[in-house]
Amino acid sequence: MKSQVVLLKCDTYDREKIYEELLWGIGQLGGIGRFVRPEEKILLKPNLLRKAEADSAIVTHPAVVAAMAKILKEAGFIHVSYGDSAGVGPMDKIAGACGLAAAMEELEIPMADFNECVHVNYPEGKMAKQFHLAKAVTETDALINICKMKTHQLERMTGAVKNMYGCIQGLHKAKGHTKFSNAESFARMLVDLNRCIRPRLYIMDGITAMEGNGPASGTPVHMGVILIAADPVALDSVCCGLMNLAPELVPTNVQGEKMGLGVWQEKNIDVITREGSLTISQAQERFGKKDYDVNRGREVRRIWRQIRWISRHFQRKPYIVESKCIRCGICVEACPVEGKAIHLHRPAAPVYDYKKCIACFCCQEMCPKKAIRVK
Ligand code: SF4
Ligand code: SF4
Repeated sequence: MKSQVVLLKCDTYDREKIYEELLWGIGQLGGIGRFVRPEEKILLKPNLLRKAEADSAIVTHPAVVAAMAKILKEAGFIHVSYGDSAGVGPMDKIAGACGLAAAMEELEIPMADFNECVHVNYPEGKMAKQFHLAKAVTETDALINICKMKTHQLERMTGAVKNMYGCIQGLHKAKGHTKFSNAESFARMLVDLNRCIRPRLYIMDGITAMEGNGPASGTPVHMGVILIAADPVALDSVCCGLMNLAPELVPTNVQGEKMGLGVWQEKNIDVITREGSLTISQAQERFGKKDYDVNRGREVRRIWRQIRWISRHFQRKPYIVESKCIRCGICVEACPVEGKAIHLHRPAAPVYDYKKCIACFCCQEMCPKKAIRVK
């Protein structure tokens, strides 16, 4: 049986319109009752990467989270909460800045506890056998992942599978980057994380997406879509189609299928739209953006990667655009490498130590001035 991904056309962040679209889309997959039960504790997990305005495309738009929350409320769900472990800064400030806190308050939905950490063993893990999860994640019965459609320097795109990294509590996220320090091992860890937590449903906000220097310094781009699926790999594969990015170039897709999380190949995915069932290619023609600004470069061959001195010349590296840098030091704080691979150099801009740099791009993700690019 094929994985089903619902593709909704939605050109506005009007909450009522999104609510209607989500209701229709979830109905196509069997209705909300197929995924969660009213007596269960439900955690809504948006992408709250860092403090940003709702229309910056850095965070999941609050209108999408609120529309999903309204569906649950109207279906009689009482124990609904929301949260994410941000890259930098406290969650209440981030939820406040983008308007999510106000939207949830209106619906009387509380913020979950993402400050406390719980160590969880996962013996079935193929790459990661333990996780440091936010307490709220361990205490919920069912998680609904509400991700954002964005580019990403390490994994090329971030969507359903990658959004689960926010379930790792606070500083443990930085440690994960040093432990799983290349795109493939990081992807395998993410797949294990999804297999461990098992979100019941994945929703992607692609109304305004991010292209270029994502996931926090790119350019907002109108795509006008929302995707829904129970299979996160299939959802991300459809997202790749819309970005005109070969899905096999995204490690979370390839590893996701190998490790049994879902499927990425077009022949195994049905895209459900109001106009009928489509293939990914047809969805791309109809709803995609051929010139979406995303890294489509082929990877350096594995054998070359194994030869360290050659690979160093091919590795993608962050660099700072000095004229944009305000010398705040957030990039230095964000660097997970022991002893740091980037150092303050005031009054000049921070300086990289490329010998230590593991190319995780945490510094680029967290820079508030879009001053860090990748070459
Ligand atoms: S985070 Fe950005 S603005 Fe701040 S010091 Fe680093 S490069 Fe400069
Ligand atoms: S300098 Fe930036 S890219 Fe390099 S290891 Fe540190 S955070 Fe990662």
